[in-house]
Amino acid sequence: AQSIIAYCRAGYEVDTGNELTAIATARELYGYPAFKPGDGFVRFQFYEPDHAAQFISQVAVHDTIFPRQLFLVLETIQIEDKSDRIGPILDALADAATGRSGLLFVDYPDTDEGKTLAKLCRKFAVPLRQALRARDLLSKKEHTGLPALHVFFTSGEQCYLGVSQAKQRSPFENGICRLKFPPKAPSRSTLKLEEALLTMLSAAQRDAICRPGARAVDLGACPGGWTYQLVSRDMHVEAVDNGKMADDLMATGLVDYRAEDGFKYRPQMGHVELLVCDMIEKPDRVAVLMANWLTRNWATHAIFNLKLPMKRRYETVTAAIETVRAQLNAANIKASMVIRHLYHNRDEVTVAVIREK
Ligand code: SAM
Repeated sequence: AQSIIAYCRAGYEVDTGNELTAIATARELYGYPAFKPGDGFVRFQFYEPDHAAQFISQVAVHDTIFPRQLFLVLETIQIEDKSDRIGPILDALADAATGRSGLLFVDYPDTDEGKTLAKLCRKFAVPLRQALRARDLLSKKEHTGLPALHVFFTSGEQCYLGVSQAKQRSPFENGICRLKFPPKAPSRSTLKLEEALLTMLSAAQRDAICRPGARAVDLGACPGGWTYQLVSRDMHVEAVDNGKMADDLMATGLVDYRAEDGFKYRPQMGHVELLVCDMIEKPDRVAVLMANWLTRNWATHAIFNLKLPMKRRYETVTAAIETVRAQLNAANIKASMVIRHLYHNRDEVTVAVIREK
């Protein structure tokens, strides 16, 4: 095995490739990304046979920015006989001697073309799962703690067969965290913060930070999708924006609306547990603002979006994150930083800076 596959949002292949190259190089693993722009995935080809496996065992999706899923490619399968898609997969697995996996993903790219494969994937998963179980290549019951098998269809005639480790992969089909739009939320943006809270924070962090009665500031809050998430968790929110907040939210009594400039605002009680920010501004300006709030201890933790309408998105994010990291280090603040291009994000990434106790 010499390559890995990374899923990403269509149009983000260059950024994903640049990021994988940087991560690999930092680990003295060498290779290059191969992709077609718009395909929604990148194949990263390594020069040394065992570098792909090393990469996949060391790098978790959670610690990357653009990849939605990562797996080690065992084989590229060309399906010659469409009446038997299972045979070639079983043959390849026998050759690879992977042992027993705990679950199976049958995925497709998140593109218009890819979506035409959704039905095939759903149908195919059923007999494939049975065949794998019959050969003891898949546990009888789903076991999320074991390695997973990945079958990734890129057309009706081709799929990649691969494996991932429990701690490193995304738990979601196609690497996508699907969420239902809460009918009472005032904007689609609400799903960005919901996905961030659910996937970027651990359950313990979520419980500790989003606890009833805790205070938050939301910079660039209107019409209130992010505030809605915090209020649903019974937090008090200072919502800062010149726009209009949804009336329903104001009626909760948990929102303190402030028509002020987010770059000049200070928390009313001098401190909040959580700062969130979704202002449309240059990433370097937002980074400095977030770092200032954290180093001045106006907020313990921060979750914010960096808008990326430009070309060199990976480089822009890295520079902004370096700014935050440098200021935190200078202030001796120990914090974990997770940076993710979420499914509900468009041209932007979400950053969670969680201070360690
Ligand atoms: N997160 C919001 C939601 O879920 O409904 C959507 C936020 S929208 C993408 C960006 C908001 O930032 C706009 O409402 C805009 O008025 C506000 N904004 C931009 N610059 C600002 C500034 N300097 N101070 C305060 N708000 C600002």
